[in-house]
Amino acid sequence: MFIGHFGVGFAGKRLDPRPSLGTLFLASQFIDLLWPVFLLIGLEKVKIEPGNTAFTPLDFIYYPFSHGFLAVLIWSLLFGIIYFLIKKNIKTSVLLGSLVMSHWLLDLLTHRPDLPLITGADIKVGLGLWNSVILTIIVEGSIFIAGVYLYQKVTRAENKKGSIGLWSLVIFLAIIYFLNIFGSPPPSTNAIAIAGLFQWLIVIWGYWIDRNRTAQITIT
Ligand SMILES: [Zn+2]
Repeated sequence: MFIGHFGVGFAGKRLDPRPSLGTLFLASQFIDLLWPVFLLIGLEKVKIEPGNTAFTPLDFIYYPFSHGFLAVLIWSLLFGIIYFLIKKNIKTSVLLGSLVMSHWLLDLLTHRPDLPLITGADIKVGLGLWNSVILTIIVEGSIFIAGVYLYQKVTRAENKKGSIGLWSLVIFLAIIYFLNIFGSPPPSTNAIAIAGLFQWLIVIWGYWIDRNRTAQITIT
């Protein structure tokens, strides 16, 4: 899953207006932001195998540190704790920790059984929505559209940057998504990792958008 995770990040604003959209993206996409780093340093492994599922040519051979259930549980706790130490807000910390975990749950829905439960053990899970391109687009597209809808509803652009920034990101993510589905498979695993690293720019984009919009709901 790709844009679905960003959809969840967008939707987070509806639950709590305090964290920036950038922070919400950082949480909901956290383990996919770690993954390219782990690929580059050789800690995790992916193989390009067209047809692995209908949706993606990637075979996620080994990624227990970014995508193992137990590891993600630890990442989500760490994320929440570190945020709490900085901002001292328990509600937002819990939300952000849950967003980290939401990534794994959505991946559980889409991946074939390649998600490890515990690092080292050979139990892998995945419900395989990716076996259908059309169902994946419907489910993931709905999450994305709902998230964007909620975000633009509970925030208001303070200036042109606030609206152009948001809508250009939405279009950009949609284009990347369809290029991934219908484009040719990536040339190498290194290319996957490098492209993955560029996702950090989307987090920065989120901070920039949020700085130019004001939340319209009251903080509780
Ligand atoms: Zn993932």
